Amino acid sequence: MEIANRMVTLSCDGTDGWDVFYRARRMKESGISVTELTIGEHDIGTDLNILIEMNRSAQAGNTGYAAVPGTDELRETVARRINERTGVSTTAANILITPGGQAALFAAHLAVLDPGEVALYCDPYYATYPGTLRAAGAIDRSIECIPENNFQPQKSQIQAAANGAKCLLVNSPNNPTGVVYDKNTWLGIAEVCVQKDLWLISDEVYDSQVWEGEHITPRSLPKMEPRTLVIGSMSKSHAMTGSRVGWVCGPETVITHLINLATHTTYGVPGYIQDAANFALNQGSKLEMEVAAPFDRRRKIAVKLIAMQKIIKAVPCSGAMYMMLDIRNTGLTGEVFANRLLDKKNIAVMPGESFGRSAKGHIRVAMTVDDERFKKALEELLKFAAEEQTKS
Ligand code: PMP
Repeated sequence: MEIANRMVTLSCDGTDGWDVFYRARRMKESGISVTELTIGEHDIGTDLNILIEMNRSAQAGNTGYAAVPGTDELRETVARRINERTGVSTTAANILITPGGQAALFAAHLAVLDPGEVALYCDPYYATYPGTLRAAGAIDRSIECIPENNFQPQKSQIQAAANGAKCLLVNSPNNPTGVVYDKNTWLGIAEVCVQKDLWLISDEVYDSQVWEGEHITPRSLPKMEPRTLVIGSMSKSHAMTGSRVGWVCGPETVITHLINLATHTTYGVPGYIQDAANFALNQGSKLEMEVAAPFDRRRKIAVKLIAMQKIIKAVPCSGAMYMMLDIRNTGLTGEVFANRLLDKKNIAVMPGESFGRSAKGHIRVAMTVDDERFKKALEELLKFAAEEQTKS
């Protein structure tokens, strides 16, 4: 029996980068102490008060099928958050609640793409992007965002890639680079989207983690609201990765179709999870800042340590929970660096190559262990880089 082509081509462009991650996990399982700076998972759990609300809601009987579009309360709360932060008029009718940002990304692409159409995305990219586009039936076409441009897409590049394309997927604050797109980048993106009649899918799941500059949503730019679908999530802003709750925000007509899609796919998000998410969002930005603060602290620790040596350079980390380090001075590829670092120092980081071609010669460090352990790991990493450089 043959499996559908759609399935077998889902993840065909992976390098061995993820091998480091799986190897680190196996080492841990066999009892070796490994410092994992790999995936975007907080070292704190979900706030206790959110869990209490989740439990209260479930015990109150909210365990049956929930409203497929999302509860009125949560849709209204999400719309209010967006209204307040972006100034773009948004109501519950502009919101679909989804099981996490990943499901929102998939749904948004299904909404705008027919099979065989071209979908653009930026390289380096969050690991699931190409597979998500292909799962939606699209031909995925990447735009290479190079270190010399601070990993931001240039207007001329998007223009060149846009011929025959239907949509563009962007992500700021960015995973894996930690870069926050600046106003000029956004204006270029918006101009090409209007000029070439592209849908823009804006993944803003790290919108609460901005350290330098400001988060701009392209939905707020002239002529962009009718063609922009914004992806949001509680995973990063509220340390609720396991709760699987996020949203798509877009024009009402698109959301109406997406509700129909949800009826035929996810059938919504559990009511007690939505109540917990609603409670969490109603705590306002104070809680979001508390969840985000450790990453800013660790970023500052890393910047200080990196300034004391000359081999490794940091891509300025303006947002999100990652630092991208340029390790080209060691003469190693990101993949070799990460594998050797794991073998010699029991520290796991992601090779840049696992996020596409543009981040080769880099590694991504997730700032997801406590400050003291993070500092020690960074010191070891820099020592390792110096040892490797003298060898070459
Ligand atoms: N987009 C980006 C850029 C991400 O980094 C992630 C998770 N790491 C997601 C979307 C998906 O997040 P979730 O499904 O947990 O909301």
